[in-house]
Amino acid sequence: MSLIARNIHKSFGKLHVLNGVNLEIGEAELVAIIGPSGAGKSTLLQILGSLSKPDQGEVIFQNRDFAKLSSNELAQIRNKEIGYVFQFHHLLPEFSALENVSIPALIGGTSKRQAYLKAEELLTHLGLKDRLHHKPSELSGGEQQRVAVARALVNQPSILLADEPSGNLDSVNREELHKILLMLRKELNITILVVTHENNLATLADRTLLMQDGNIVEEVVR
Ligand code: ADP
Ligand code: MG
Repeated sequence: MSLIARNIHKSFGKLHVLNGVNLEIGEAELVAIIGPSGAGKSTLLQILGSLSKPDQGEVIFQNRDFAKLSSNELAQIRNKEIGYVFQFHHLLPEFSALENVSIPALIGGTSKRQAYLKAEELLTHLGLKDRLHHKPSELSGGEQQRVAVARALVNQPSILLADEPSGNLDSVNREELHKILLMLRKELNITILVVTHENNLATLADRTLLMQDGNIVEEVVR
């Protein structure tokens, strides 16, 4: 896995949000990005995940330049190679945990049987074996977020992008989610880039980058 961003600029109208960001993330790294609200962390994560385009600069994911790919190719990458977890889980309320997790696999062309098997395996691994058929409204905030993590992983992406995934959780569930991210990195050898307010997650990461005023201003040394 490799993800390289070079000289990323992004503005919204007159607001210059990203100011020449450079970043390189390697195989199986757990990298945390911290920084004040409004620093541009979410904007950067969206661009790294090809959910939004930079005004200037390039993103190279697994030796492929996002700018040179068709929208179809990008959609494939988003479905199969990148997992996303956001602050709000964005689970579909009408569907069970099992169905929510299966959806990206079904979209990617996996058979229903295989998708459900994979979803069940992941949910079980994340401690939700007894919650497979619950709808999001029947789950706690921590459980919902674990379902969202399982959904992000169902197509076995090489990188997980997480934007303040524990931002809405109480301290117990936050700890639990952080443990899960560490376990995933260890067991699946997956690369994780996580934007976080939590100091303790930042201290567990391999590297912690501080973002300020649209740029990464330093690597936080511990
Ligand atoms: P962070 O995640 O670090 O809090 P964001 O990347 O969400 O910061 O936002 C950086 C700045 O860009 C903020 O001032 C925000 O209001 C602005 N911004 C983000 N997205 C948009 C958008 N789609 N349109 C206009 N302004 C935006
Ligand atoms: Mg944000």
